[in-house]
Amino acid sequence: MADVRLLGITQRYGEEVTLRLPDLELDWGQQVALLGPSGSGKTTLLHILAGLRLPSQGEVWVGGQDLTQLSEAQRDAYRRSTVGYLFQDFYLAEGYSALENVLLGLGVAGIRGRAAQGRAAEVLTQLGLGQRLGHAPRHLSTGERQRVALARAVAHRPRLLLADEPTAHLDRARATTALDLLTQTAASLRALLVVATHDPWVMARFPQQIELSSPPSAPVQEEAR
Ligand code: ADP
Ligand code: MG
Repeated sequence: MADVRLLGITQRYGEEVTLRLPDLELDWGQQVALLGPSGSGKTTLLHILAGLRLPSQGEVWVGGQDLTQLSEAQRDAYRRSTVGYLFQDFYLAEGYSALENVLLGLGVAGIRGRAAQGRAAEVLTQLGLGQRLGHAPRHLSTGERQRVALARAVAHRPRLLLADEPTAHLDRARATTALDLLTQTAASLRALLVVATHDPWVMARFPQQIELSSPPSAPVQEEAR
């Protein structure tokens, strides 16, 4: 049986929006692009896999447990141990250095003290930030900020690595680097990597794809004249 399975998921947002997500079967170590136009439910699907959101209906099986049957505390524990999430807008803590940002993430995962210090410095160094450990996010470039966010997402060695539009803020050269780092990091962790994107160029780099269609309630795009 697949390591990660979504079954019969619907997500309602108020009266207006009902998303029906496709059934999925994915395994640790796979790398897939999650495609679809804006509003098709990519972020919702990542949140559901991460245990950040409970779907309105359906089952979310990860490594033999259905997340929808867990208590909130159990879901928190699942997220901390199993999930690495690269947020579209990074969400770095501005008052803290690059190293401290990664330490904060490790602390949430229950890894503290010397072990955490060593791990944080090691991951940042592997991602090319060895000379930036003490820098605050505002003194880093966008590409560097994203790499701090990636270091924080992977330092606790998650099995499930989720990235939401990881190239949205980057030019092509930096986007290439970011995708290389994501795929290499996921491979070294033997993690399942799911990268949400609406960019065909990003999609083309992944051999496997999950495609979401736009919801019936989505506004029709006007054609360019
Ligand atoms: P995508 O990431 O593909 O752009 P989302 O998962 O963010 O799609 O959103 C899918 C649909 O759900 C959209 O129509 C969006 O407006 C709606 N939606 C997402 N999050 C919320 C929310 N917190 N409250 C209300 N509607 C939401
Ligand atoms: Mg989104």
